[in-house]
Amino acid sequence: MSFDSLGLSAELLRAVGEQGYNEPTPIQQKAIPVILAGKDIMAGAQTGTGKTAGFTLPLLQRLNANPTQSGHRLPRALVLTPTRELAAQVGASVETYGRFLPLRSAVIFGGVKMNPQIEKLRRGIDVLVATPGRLLDHVNQRNVDLSQVEILVLDEADRMLDMGFIHDIRKVLALLPKNGVRQNLLFSATFSEDIKQLAARLLNRPELIEVARRNTTAERIEQFVHPVDKSRKRELLSHLIGSENWRQVLVFTRTKHGANRLAQQLGKDGLSAAAIHGNKSQGARTRALADFKRGAVRVLVATDIAARGLDIDQLPHVVNFELPNVPEDYVHRIGRTGRAGNEGEAISLVCVDEIKLLRDIERLLQRELPKRIMEGYEVDPSIRAEPIRNGQNNKARTQPGRQAKSRGRSQASANRMPKSNSRSTELERKRTSPKNAYKSTARKSSGSQSQSRKRHSHSGRDQETASLFSS
Ligand code: AMP
Repeated sequence: MSFDSLGLSAELLRAVGEQGYNEPTPIQQKAIPVILAGKDIMAGAQTGTGKTAGFTLPLLQRLNANPTQSGHRLPRALVLTPTRELAAQVGASVETYGRFLPLRSAVIFGGVKMNPQIEKLRRGIDVLVATPGRLLDHVNQRNVDLSQVEILVLDEADRMLDMGFIHDIRKVLALLPKNGVRQNLLFSATFSEDIKQLAARLLNRPELIEVARRNTTAERIEQFVHPVDKSRKRELLSHLIGSENWRQVLVFTRTKHGANRLAQQLGKDGLSAAAIHGNKSQGARTRALADFKRGAVRVLVATDIAARGLDIDQLPHVVNFELPNVPEDYVHRIGRTGRAGNEGEAISLVCVDEIKLLRDIERLLQRELPKRIMEGYEVDPSIRAEPIRNGQNNKARTQPGRQAKSRGRSQASANRMPKSNSRSTELERKRTSPKNAYKSTARKSSGSQSQSRKRHSHSGRDQETASLFSS
């Protein structure tokens, strides 16, 4: 299928052509005609599927087909995103795809000065891309009037709810023209009960569009687990990056502190690394991302929120240095690789403390992830599982300022982790249980022979170890 057959105008086709896109992605094929027809949609599509163009192109076409009559231009399309980075990326897409149309857009998010944003809003705009908190700040200061919004997009709605934005979203909705005259487009990678409730309130007889099965990960991503002791994760990561000669790898940690520390340690190992998380200034985050994109930084260490929505073309490797507390985050994390038709590899370094988290993820994916034991990094079976600590100031899912309204699911989830004693007992039982025998998916990968701490593999021990990591 070609872009020409979707009903897009010549100006938009030209902009798409300049991007070098040959054919629309599945979400674009499905969403564009429906949005052009003025219908609401509820789309299950994660970042990397081309969803941004999927809503931006028809949105621009609809606005352009019906030019504003009034003198001052008030926003007619509003795109809400959970993070600053995603807002910036969507804003850039609006600019790119709309470059041959006489429409104006602005991006507003927190962490930067209000004044330049106020200036832009005063000059008049057609498309406003915003994070909810900063948008409400502008509303409260009467810098923006949302009464003319014809099209609302909630991008990565699941993440907005995870970040505790539901109240802000409700406030924004109350400022928009009544549902019925407004077109609503909801995008979400996952469909929790909360999302369904929001959709029921917001959407008007929506078309359901799905491009991948719910809560599944993109097909082109090869995923596997390296069982490894917690204390040796960093060493294994450095080894993988070096021995496999990875040039660009995105690494996830659970905490901001952990991200900083890991980036520093990798630096000491001679790998150029930067950390990106909610405590960093917007400038530092933008710089780190830009350095990573242009190859000046080889390893970008990120927390979930900072990495949300990052659009990095052809990112070949994603590593979960620590598994996320919330299984859905695994889907989001690995969505950073294998984007728009490229191959990708997602590797999780899993220690004994994380077995429950791994099982939760496998349950969500409805499949077992292959386990690969790296020679020289075999798990020490005498190490007992300990409860997972999520940092002192456990706001792992929040950002500074208004975004610090998280429902604290990380904490809740951590609190559900069994106590170490009962957990050890459970693990003991599983170790000796024949039904947990090592699954055939595990295979040995060769590691560095020169590792100073290399321990020789012990076949019986490997069996035990692997059984721990099988569901
Ligand atoms: P998104 O899911 O919107 O974040 O898009 C992911 C990436 O896919 C972006 O880098 C887009 O530039 C790219 N992209 C979007 N549509 C297409 C297409 N039809 N063909 C190739 N790449 C695309």
